[in-house]
Amino acid sequence: MRELIEKIMEEGEVLSEHVLKVDRFLNHQVDPQLMKKIGEHFADEFRHERITKVLTLESSGISPALMTAYELNVPLLVARKRKPVTLSENTYKASVYSFTKREETEIFVSQTLLDCEDRVLIIDDFLANGQAALGLTDIVAQAKAHVAGIGIVIEKAFQGGGQLLRSRGYRVVSLARIASLQDGTVKLIEEVMC
Ligand code: 5GP
Repeated sequence: MRELIEKIMEEGEVLSEHVLKVDRFLNHQVDPQLMKKIGEHFADEFRHERITKVLTLESSGISPALMTAYELNVPLLVARKRKPVTLSENTYKASVYSFTKREETEIFVSQTLLDCEDRVLIIDDFLANGQAALGLTDIVAQAKAHVAGIGIVIEKAFQGGGQLLRSRGYRVVSLARIASLQDGTVKLIEEVMC
């Protein structure tokens, strides 16, 4: 997606060979116009799948996921990383190893909000090793619902997540695919192929 790639090139900061910081438009400060375009893009890709719910993980997935849910005219369901007192009912629960925090966390979704009738589109900001997305597919499986697709804003294709999810049969659509972050530079997949 051209506008996203321009933003990554202009405002992304390479923190290491493995981590890209996008706090100027996605993870801390959020660009609403860009999120709107991202939502439109994901909605166009998955509209034919008769999605009933968009599912993401708090907190950085919420902005692109909300705009996608808005475009598809379906609810957004946000998996929680801590179980708040207000989430008193039974929950689906999965364990996720956090790439950025380097620790295992549990994620929760109320059993009242997801069931076997649902066709779920999973949206997240980044794809690295695929643990967050896999945790969300686990939650969908517990509800006996269907994963209709996975939309990722930025896929770091040099890490294993994309391959892992695709090998399990999921359709993964990534709006920007990064080939490497070596030497402090973002190299996109397209650049490598040229
Ligand atoms: P995974 O579970 O695929 O290993 O990692 C994905 C999750 O880790 C995303 O939800 C995202 O929050 C975070 N993450 C992974 N890589 C990066 C990165 O390079 N930059 C930022 N800002 N977050 C990342």
